[in-house]
Amino acid sequence: MAIGTQVSQELERKMTCITCPTGCQLEVTRNADGELSITGAQCRRGEVYARNEILDPRRVLTTTVRIRNGSLPLLPVRTTEAVPKELLADAMRILAKVEVTAPVRTGDVILPNILDTGIDVTASRDMKRAEDAF
Ligand code: SF4
Repeated sequence: MAIGTQVSQELERKMTCITCPTGCQLEVTRNADGELSITGAQCRRGEVYARNEILDPRRVLTTTVRIRNGSLPLLPVRTTEAVPKELLADAMRILAKVEVTAPVRTGDVILPNILDTGIDVTASRDMKRAEDAF
């Protein structure tokens, strides 16, 4: 850049990096060409996190589904990968209608390919049948 040239930068978003417990405060700016610039990250993972949060935000979904004849009434489940944030509400609506039958082992697929994402929902813990629990 030539001396004296000014590039206008617009603050896109402030965010906290949640990749590790350090919790760096990140600032994402966008220049006139649409390029993103990230400050505040202590490592490269923070830059990747911020860029993904702007361009393709995703979250691993953790929740519970009902389980029939289980030692507990609800089974903790999670997606095997992070799901686009805009699909989380629909995924929750689908999982609210799911009911499985005990016994279940950790990692069992509870719902394959949720919302055609190619991502499965799996059990986060073992769940015995009620009669085998004690
Ligand atoms: S930028 Fe790096 S050091 Fe900072 S919170 Fe993110 S992962 Fe941790």
